[in-house]
Amino acid sequence: MIDQGTAGVVAASAAPAGPVAAPVPAAVTLAGVTRRFGAVHAADGVDLEIYDGEFFSLLGPSGSGKTTCLRLIAGFERPDEGRVLLHGLDVTDRPPHQRDVNTVFQDYALFPHMSVLDNIAYGLMVKRVPKPQRRQRAAEALALVRLEGYGDRRPNQLSGGQRQRVALARALVNRPRVLLLDEPLGALDLKLREQMQRELKTIQQQVGITFVFVTHDQQEALTMSDRIAVFDKGRVVQVAPPADLYEHPVNAFVAGFVGTSNLLLPAVAKAVLGRDGTFTVRPEKIRMHDLDDADAAPAVVGPADCTADGTVADVAYLGSETRYVVALDAGAELVVTQQNPRHDVDRGARRPRPSGAFGVGSPVRAGAPRRDLNVGGETDAIRNGRFLP
Ligand code: ATP
Repeated sequence: MIDQGTAGVVAASAAPAGPVAAPVPAAVTLAGVTRRFGAVHAADGVDLEIYDGEFFSLLGPSGSGKTTCLRLIAGFERPDEGRVLLHGLDVTDRPPHQRDVNTVFQDYALFPHMSVLDNIAYGLMVKRVPKPQRRQRAAEALALVRLEGYGDRRPNQLSGGQRQRVALARALVNRPRVLLLDEPLGALDLKLREQMQRELKTIQQQVGITFVFVTHDQQEALTMSDRIAVFDKGRVVQVAPPADLYEHPVNAFVAGFVGTSNLLLPAVAKAVLGRDGTFTVRPEKIRMHDLDDADAAPAVVGPADCTADGTVADVAYLGSETRYVVALDAGAELVVTQQNPRHDVDRGARRPRPSGAFGVGSPVRAGAPRRDLNVGGETDAIRNGRFLP
């Protein structure tokens, strides 16, 4: 783990001479957790602290170890090494039903022969909660996910989004301190997914339960999370709030996985920047001006920017923005995106494009503010201020 972000685990104390506040234990702690399956290290020395009340996402490509970590927290897996703590209590040796967590699975796992209300109340029945209380709490959970009036239906009489909500209500009704969600929106179409993202976040804020959310969708993680842990090959590469993760990725893997990034590998960086190392820069941070248009120059790419000259090799009009590929004179290619704020279209061109857009073959100067170039773990302050030395 490289960065735990800024949220505090220690209760704040303003009085310097007063008693020292007791540390508040994290809701979930994974301490040096390793889980092997044969030669595969599904989790490889994972250290994580998830704070109480956080919406925390485990993000990474397929097979990177997210679900394994969730199962380790739930108790469905036992670590080969390391410890699992819930609110400071070591639960490593406890079975799932003795942990104050609930899991929402991607396939919802609803009982088809039971009504929606009975599905939701099932966990309470197992815990021998008296029937009137059971029904009341199940009805409250149903209202929380906005499904009042659906209690008598069977799961197969519901849409995918409604089934997802029932699964959520079934987990929430137990009032766990931590809710584990394994790609719960994966089966939904894009529109419904976006709607459920908003609803999940709202519900989490309403109930104040810690949510640990597994996803491979970086947009989803950015939209919903207070903090995100990025996984790669069983390891946690970076933990940070969404904006920090996007603006200051610790390495090229995070820069490429969370959003799109230009990667300047060492050989190219040497040629383009005159610097050793690997650099990343986001396409939307780069601005361009036409080298044939002397008037445009200083306003677009300032003297303090890092700059490089090249030729537009490809143009893709994407509606809200245009994406360019620029072949740099120094040999690398840069992807540059620019918003299309103007509504007028230049119809004189063979393929009509927004006014002000560059055409294939245009000689351009590309520039980016120095602070937007990331290298290794930090933003680089490039002294000479030019892609081309
Ligand atoms: P996905 O997004 O595809 O669900 P993930 O990031 O959740 O992936 P895991 O399911 O945690 O990844 O799997 C991590 C690695 O461990 C993978 O290589 C997977 O094949 C392996 N693995 C997980 N569970 C088992 C198991 N029960 N037996 C053998 N290998 C397993």
